Amino acid sequence: MEFRSTRGGTGGRIEQAIMGGTAPDGGLYVPVSLPRAASAEWPAVAQLDVVACELLAPFFADSTLSPSLAQIAHEALDFPVPLRQLEDRLAVLELFHGPTAAFKDVGARFLSGCMTRIVADGRHTRPPVTILVATSGDTGGAVAAAYYGKPGMRVCVLFPEGRVSPRQQHQLTCWGGNVLSLAVAGEFDDCQRLAKEAFADAALAGRHNLCSANSINVGRLLPQAAYYAHASINHLRRTGRPSSFIVPTGNLGNVFACVWAREMGLPIDRIVMATNANTTVPDFLATGQWLPRATVATLASAMDVGNPSNMERLRDLFADVGDLRAAVMAVPVSDAEIRAAIRSEYDRHGMAWCPHTATALHVYRQLPPADRDRHDWIAVATAHPAKFDSIVEPLLGVSVPVPRELGALLARPAQHQVIGPRLPELASQLDRAA
Ligand SMILES: *Cc1c(COP(=O)(O)O)cnc(C)c1O
Repeated sequence: MEFRSTRGGTGGRIEQAIMGGTAPDGGLYVPVSLPRAASAEWPAVAQLDVVACELLAPFFADSTLSPSLAQIAHEALDFPVPLRQLEDRLAVLELFHGPTAAFKDVGARFLSGCMTRIVADGRHTRPPVTILVATSGDTGGAVAAAYYGKPGMRVCVLFPEGRVSPRQQHQLTCWGGNVLSLAVAGEFDDCQRLAKEAFADAALAGRHNLCSANSINVGRLLPQAAYYAHASINHLRRTGRPSSFIVPTGNLGNVFACVWAREMGLPIDRIVMATNANTTVPDFLATGQWLPRATVATLASAMDVGNPSNMERLRDLFADVGDLRAAVMAVPVSDAEIRAAIRSEYDRHGMAWCPHTATALHVYRQLPPADRDRHDWIAVATAHPAKFDSIVEPLLGVSVPVPRELGALLARPAQHQVIGPRLPELASQLDRAA
C-alpha cells in the first residue's frame, strides 16, 4: 500500500510514513485508497489482535513489516478492551486497561513494535533512534512505557514542570534506562516549540536520529481503528444493529481512526466528537470557518488542543464542509458540565469515570431524544479515573482504586532533570545521555 501526503507531495510506503511522522511537504500521510474490510465474514468474538491483523494487513502488504504484523498486533494489544453495557442503548468502550491506563497505550505500543523492527532491519535507518516527545500528560507516559528497554531505541520526554498531575508526572519519570525525562521550566507550548526546534536542527536531529511518536503518526492511528472494528462487529453480531460512537476528542486522532473504520465498511453509524472548552472543531462545523486558537486549560487536560492537527486528514477525506457535517458531529463540554457528569454518572450507575470520558457521557445525555433512542451508542472511555484522582475523588467523596498496572508504575522510583526552555540545554542533555 502506498501512502500520500494530504498536501499532495510524494508519499511512500508504511515504513517511511512511520519513521517520518509527517510527510516531507509538511502534510500528513494518508493511504492512497482505503481497503474495504469484509466484516461480514468475521466471527463475533475474535480477539482484538486478530481483528487488528485482518483489518490492517492491506496497509502493510509488500512492506518489510508484513511478516511481523500478527506478532506486532499480538504484543501491542495484549490487554482487555471491554465493552461495558450500561443501559439498553448505551455502552462504554473501556480503552484504559493498558500499562499507563489511557487509550494512547494502544497506538504507542503498536508504533513501538513497528519502529523497533524497522530500526533492527536497518534498511530504512540505523540505530540508535531517539524518540523525542513533548507531552502535556498522557502521551509521554504511553510512549515511554512502549519504548522502555527496546533495543536500538531511546526516548526523551519533555513535560512542563509543575503542570502535570502528580500521577502523570510519575508515569513520565519512573523509567531510567533508555528513557530520559526532562521537566521544562515553562508551559506545554514551550515543550512543543523545543521539540520542533530540535527536529529542525539538522546537526542535532542527525546526531541522535530524532524521530517523533506523536498522534499524527499513521502507526498510532491504524491500530486504533481495530478497537472500533472489534466493538462494532461484536455489537452487530449480538444485536443485528450498527454502533454509533461518542469519542472524547483533542487532536482528533482517536475519532479519525473511527472515521477510517466506518469508511472501510465496518458497521458504524453516527460518530460524535465530544470536545472540552477548546471549541475549534465544533465552531468550524457550525460556521465553516477554521479558526485555530490558543489552548484553554480544562479538567479534561489531554484534550486541551486549540489547533488539532488531524483536522487536516478529516478535511482531506471530506473536502466539502457540508459532507464533513454529514459525516461527524462535534459537541463542546464545559468544565462545569464535566464535573456534573462525573457526579451524576456515579449516582446513576456507581461508576467513576475520568474527566475525558465524562465529556462523552455528558454528550450522550443531552442528545435530542429522537437521536438518542434511535441508535445504539458507545461512549469511548479514554483514561482510567485513578489517573485523575485529584479531580475525581473530591467530586465523588470516595477513593478510586488504582488498577494493578498503574500501581506497579507508581511503585517505581522516579527521577528527572529540569531544563530551561532553550535548545542548547536540550541538546546537551541529549548528548550527555547518548
Ligand atoms: C489524548 C487523549 C484524548 C484525546 O485524543 P485525541 O486522539 O488527541 O483526540 C482524550 N482522552 C485522553 C485520556 C487522552 O489521553
